[in-house]
Amino acid sequence: MSDIIRRDPRAEWIARNRLHPLHAAMQPAQHSWMGPNGVIRKNPHGIGFIGPNGIKRIDRSGAQQGGTTKRSAAVEVQLPLHQVPAPAFFICVVPDMVGGRLSSHDRDLLGLAHQLAGSDGAVLAVVFGEHKENAFSTAGVDRLLVLEGEEFSGYAPEQRVQGLRAVDNQFNPRHWLLPDSRSGGGELGRRFAAALGERPATRVWQVKDQECIGRAGAGLQDLARPVARLILAAVECAEPVSETRHEVLPVELSTAVARSLSRIEDLGAVAVDPAAIPMAEAEFIFSGGNGVKDWDLFHQTAAALGATEGASRVAVDDGFMARDRQVGASGTWVTARVYVAVGISGAIQHLQGIGACDKVVAINLDPGCDMIKRADLSVIGESAEILRALIAAVEAYRNDAKRDAA
Ligand SMILES: Cc1cc2nc3c(=O)[nH]c(=O)nc-3n(C[C@H](O)[C@H](O)[C@H](O)COP(=O)(O)OP(=O)(O)OC[C@H]3O[C@@H](n4cnc5c(N)ncnc54)[C@H](O)[C@@H]3O)c2cc1C
Repeated sequence: MSDIIRRDPRAEWIARNRLHPLHAAMQPAQHSWMGPNGVIRKNPHGIGFIGPNGIKRIDRSGAQQGGTTKRSAAVEVQLPLHQVPAPAFFICVVPDMVGGRLSSHDRDLLGLAHQLAGSDGAVLAVVFGEHKENAFSTAGVDRLLVLEGEEFSGYAPEQRVQGLRAVDNQFNPRHWLLPDSRSGGGELGRRFAAALGERPATRVWQVKDQECIGRAGAGLQDLARPVARLILAAVECAEPVSETRHEVLPVELSTAVARSLSRIEDLGAVAVDPAAIPMAEAEFIFSGGNGVKDWDLFHQTAAALGATEGASRVAVDDGFMARDRQVGASGTWVTARVYVAVGISGAIQHLQGIGACDKVVAINLDPGCDMIKRADLSVIGESAEILRALIAAVEAYRNDAKRDAA
């Protein structure tokens, strides 16, 4: 190999860019050096790594310290593996899995499950039907039970209760945790509680000192009661797991699930108007800022994509969008799987509001703006031109799909 030192412009750019996810990995790791008077100096702040929730962590095993003198964008933080070879008991979690993936509510619930499991118990997640999730390990799942079958798909609360009863008989979990949500968990949890004859603790936002505290009295009061076996927990009931990896060992039911005589017929999902979806619950947000020059075209594109509309504060202040559409620190904090920012510069107050979004796509004229630094995919150019091309691409895609189906 030649000795010529080659520059890597991309690595240099990442090293300068504080908002890039790989920025920390590109910093030179110099933790100790010889001072001018011959004394070894140590930089205690240079040790450790930033965990997925942004908090600095120090691995005292020494695995992450020292030897990383080589700058590499491929450096990946490997979280310590949490293993429970012979669980003393189980904590069962039934995540909503909206869209086949863990929601932030589900992750909070898994965090609560680990709080209750301690070091002896294992967290068993029960999932119905096919899923698309590949991050069960970092979300805190020690054991995974997938109940597959046509009978569990769609809206089938009665059959799902039968499935959960079979799990209860086999694993006899110490606690059952379900999200107290409108996406399924709230109803399933109450039906399951009735089937078990348990009194569930509902709308629980904290479990502490052998007590669970839930909202009551039309949300105006807190109700504290001893920790129930079946807990229906609210969002942010606990911190999600962020410091450990988990085994996700598959487990199976040893007996067949009894078929329920269904009194409910699922007629399928009802099409909803994306504009009517509350911002905080929207999965796909198309957001416009000061860089949108043609608002009719913006609305047309959002409708073509079937996305929920959002806006920056400037767009709202200028009267182009309603106040309830504002995303950011003084608007709504969103958790969309896809967030498209059209002509939004990425001011810190706006970025705070999209911190929990999975994938961010930026459309902007300025390749150096903060939104482009935050984005997973960027399109540099004039917004109107790009929106027109986007509508044409969506129409072509739909026409192709129609032709294939015919
Ligand atoms: C206390 C406080 C709270 C705030 N809370 C919020 C909040 O909740 N939400 C929020 O959004 N802001 C909030 N702000 C305002 C925030 O600081 C920014 O001013 C605001 O987010 C900027 O909006 P913008 O990105 O749409 O506009 P600009 O900053 O003007 O950016 C416009 C962007 O569009 C690009 N552009 C211009 N023309 C085109 C074109 N033709 N095609 C493509 N791109 C183009 C530009 O390159 C630029 O990046 C708050 C401010 C304060 C002080």
